[in-house]
Amino acid sequence: MSELTIRCECGTLTGVLEDVSPKRGNHMMCYCDDCQRYARYLGDAEKWLDEWGGTEVFQVAPAKIKILTGADQLKCVRLKPKGIYRYYAKCCRTPIANTISYKTAFAGLPVAILHGENKDALLGPITHAVMELTRTVLRLSILTQSSLLALL
Ligand SMILES: [Zn+2]
Ligand SMILES: [Zn+2]
Repeated sequence: MSELTIRCECGTLTGVLEDVSPKRGNHMMCYCDDCQRYARYLGDAEKWLDEWGGTEVFQVAPAKIKILTGADQLKCVRLKPKGIYRYYAKCCRTPIANTISYKTAFAGLPVAILHGENKDALLGPITHAVMELTRTVLRLSILTQSSLLALL
């Protein structure tokens, strides 16, 4: 089955992501400020961000997302005037999907809300990252340290 279940934390909002495969989506990490602000806006940033402040996202065509229950819980917010549209489940403030505009043919879902036996295989490896310079430098320096340690 190439489907994953979409579920908010409390289980009120559920859905399916259809036709999932590494070829039909972008599996990425986003380290942008807007995603971090959003995680704080939702109330429990640590729940959605990794130790570097990144959000793991899978971008798909919006038509692959089917909401089955709790659609009335969906709320949309933009954190700055030209910011992206961010949809979350207001029942438990779980981020559900982000879209740049109604015209853009993809939506990004936080990987944390996707569930299924074959999740890792269906999503494939993380293929790219969007990050800011400061974090890139931080990350590189830490990577360098650990690779140096590996050489010792
Ligand atoms: Zn919920
Ligand atoms: Zn971002």
